[in-house]
Amino acid sequence: MSNNKQADELPRIGFIGLGLMGKPMAANLLKKGHSVSVYNRSAKSVDELASLGAIATKSPKEVAQNSDIVIDMVTDAPDVQQVLLGQNGVIEAARKGIVVIDMSTNSPEVAKSVANELEAKGMEFLDAPVSGGDKGAKEGTLTIMVGGKKQVYEKCLRVFEAMGKTITYTGSVGSGQAMKLCNQVAVAIHTLATSEALLFGTALGLKSDELLKVLTSGAANSWNLQYLGPKIAARDFEPGFKAAHLFKDLKAVMRSIEREKLVLPGTTTAYELFGAVLASKEGEKGTQVVAKILEKLAEREIK
Ligand code: NAP
Repeated sequence: MSNNKQADELPRIGFIGLGLMGKPMAANLLKKGHSVSVYNRSAKSVDELASLGAIATKSPKEVAQNSDIVIDMVTDAPDVQQVLLGQNGVIEAARKGIVVIDMSTNSPEVAKSVANELEAKGMEFLDAPVSGGDKGAKEGTLTIMVGGKKQVYEKCLRVFEAMGKTITYTGSVGSGQAMKLCNQVAVAIHTLATSEALLFGTALGLKSDELLKVLTSGAANSWNLQYLGPKIAARDFEPGFKAAHLFKDLKAVMRSIEREKLVLPGTTTAYELFGAVLASKEGEKGTQVVAKILEKLAEREIK
């Protein structure tokens, strides 16, 4: 089958937000033969995707005009609302049957309210946040949790499969975001656990590489120990997932904790420490930078 014939048979995809996650996700859709129209606030990553065969556009509205399925992967709720519902947003190109998928992390409440506005214009909506980091985005192995109408999810399954490995239908709209916030509770505590184990171990005179080898082969093992542990030990604080973004997610979790009258002390501690990361103006670093806060409190470094 020629590439053009293949592209004719696949849904045309629009992709808005080409950051650490969006850029490799859009590239994986191109690799699977989809026609992909892209938009990003700053131009550099649009040019990079265009050099791989994507169609560059000037607005989310233009993306939607070109597409059967529009995906956004921007930062936070106001950004999602802006690109989907704002001026020159996707909603201005509303037509019946077009599917909009928000893959960024925000909250179940935002998903429900965006769905209401888009569905009132005849569009379909799924909330489909992801886990697996920049590594999973590049390798096309993301875990994707999808809320919305089952038949719309089924229609989009092959598109999700181009970007991820474990794809789960979580139920009605907003349930994908609810699942993602649970994920962030565990991620925040695991990141802290990794940092604490490294600080404690090296304070006791252990070597960080040996410590990581032992801990990742036993009951303490986690994605964070495997992937972020070596980065902390190498003092590599470049972002795969920005600390500011985890703090944004923990803020959404804290609002739910309050509403549901729950007590989650590990999450609350992580929230405070990631708040300290932002106060130290290190929010654009990777989440592993929380180790530096522990170092400051202990007045010693992980060696
Ligand atoms: P990022 O690198 O900061 O990228 C965000 C992208 O969205 C950028 O391309 C940015 O454009 C664009 N954007 C933000 N606000 C916008 C607006 N108002 N209008 C138009 N474009 C806008 O972030 P990321 O790491 O890719 O994360 C994206 C989402 O995925 C976040 O919700 C994050 O929590 C979630 N997530 C991230 C990871 C991870 O490991 N990184 C994992 C799972 C989920 P500019 O380039 O112009 O700034």
